[in-house]
Amino acid sequence: MTKRIVILGAGESGTGAAILAKKKGFDTFVSDSSHIQDKYKEMLDKRNIPWEEGHHTEELILNADEIVKSPGIPNNAPLILKLKEKGTPIISEIEFAGRYTHAKMICITGSNGKTTTTSLIYHIFKKAGLNVGLAGNIGKSLAYQVAEENYDYYIIELSSFQLDNMYDFRANIAVLMNITPDHLDRYDYKMQNYIDAKFRIIQNQTDDDAFIFWMDDPVIQQELSKYRVHGRYYPFAEHREDGAAAYIDQDKIVFSEPIAFNMEQEELALTGTHNMYNSMAAGISANLAGIKKECIREALQDFQGVPHRLEKVCRVRGVEYINDSKATNVNSCWYALQSMKTKTILILGGKDKGNDYNEIADLVREKCSGLIYMGLHNEKLHQFFDPFGLPIADVQSMKDAVQAAYGMAKKGETVLLSPCCASFDLFKSYEDRGDQFKECVRNL
Ligand code: ADP
Repeated sequence: MTKRIVILGAGESGTGAAILAKKKGFDTFVSDSSHIQDKYKEMLDKRNIPWEEGHHTEELILNADEIVKSPGIPNNAPLILKLKEKGTPIISEIEFAGRYTHAKMICITGSNGKTTTTSLIYHIFKKAGLNVGLAGNIGKSLAYQVAEENYDYYIIELSSFQLDNMYDFRANIAVLMNITPDHLDRYDYKMQNYIDAKFRIIQNQTDDDAFIFWMDDPVIQQELSKYRVHGRYYPFAEHREDGAAAYIDQDKIVFSEPIAFNMEQEELALTGTHNMYNSMAAGISANLAGIKKECIREALQDFQGVPHRLEKVCRVRGVEYINDSKATNVNSCWYALQSMKTKTILILGGKDKGNDYNEIADLVREKCSGLIYMGLHNEKLHQFFDPFGLPIADVQSMKDAVQAAYGMAKKGETVLLSPCCASFDLFKSYEDRGDQFKECVRNL
């Protein structure tokens, strides 16, 4: 009998998984409890793939032989619990797609820096003329590309939610940028569960594979010994260290393995300490793939950056406005504040995921000249930051936030949107939040 695959969630990854499942001859069905975007409906209809939206019909789902679940659906959703009770295997779209390709997989995870590093690696590979696809949280889904395109390499951004439902997938190069608390609401508020999810990136690696990670990260350092690692280590470090495949030495980034070469820090397209890490991780990946050092250097120099990550918007009356809407946790805001060269009005707030603001307390004292709380529930921010004695504003829309910042900022200062929080209380997404910020700033 034909195996039945049910796909839960019809976004980019679900639609891609459905297209691949159909192509591979499975009895395929797609169910989404909310609205499916028209473009995905059209893609499904074109291939005669049945779908439903607005609800889950259990009779059509519980009879599946295997489920491909969108990373957006929590593991404790009632339907997922029922499927687990039945023993139905539940996998992620990446796991599913990985079964049908022999391409080399370069996978990137971490709490922060995933998209930047993934885009940077893709940029270098592309510039080197390799036949490469970009997948995961960015662009087209891996499953869609495996079904419809044919690449030799995939550069894949993996969130912890995607990793949660990965079992046999093997990363030829695994990159672990860092681990700091994030999404704890989805991990029973247990940090260990989140750490374990991140380390799944190295499961199934063999001696032929490579594991790139940030050597100085305290969590990675502490946890590494707990896992059986088969891939060869290629760590990157902030200072010269034995065994580091790349490190910072005064004004240079030094790549030591497999091919040794140096680069001046100021040649790098991306600025800020965190972007040194991203550049090192990307450089090592490219170095391992055999890309020539001249090409790596050039690509690290002419990379255009990614929107909503420390993105300069414009200068208005001597004040610089920076959009870092993608800073959806406290750690990424820390790096953003740390890279500020002037006094800063910080716009923060939104949907709190169990944040501990102590991490940025010192930097806020040192760098901020005003704070703007932007969210439906700003009580926690008031409680934590009001005692700092800085000018504050409490707002519930981007327009008001930008107006308040405009009123507070003095010439020579910076207004930074780096919210520490998810955007879903007031915005559709972090992109929507960043786009609104840019529009309001441009209308000043
Ligand atoms: P992710 O995809 O993991 O969310 P991004 O590359 O989109 O990461 O960057 C999100 C934010 O995190 C950026 O706006 C920046 O402030 C911060 N950031 C980027 N790279 C790093 C890093 N290596 N370490 C810590 N913070 C980082």
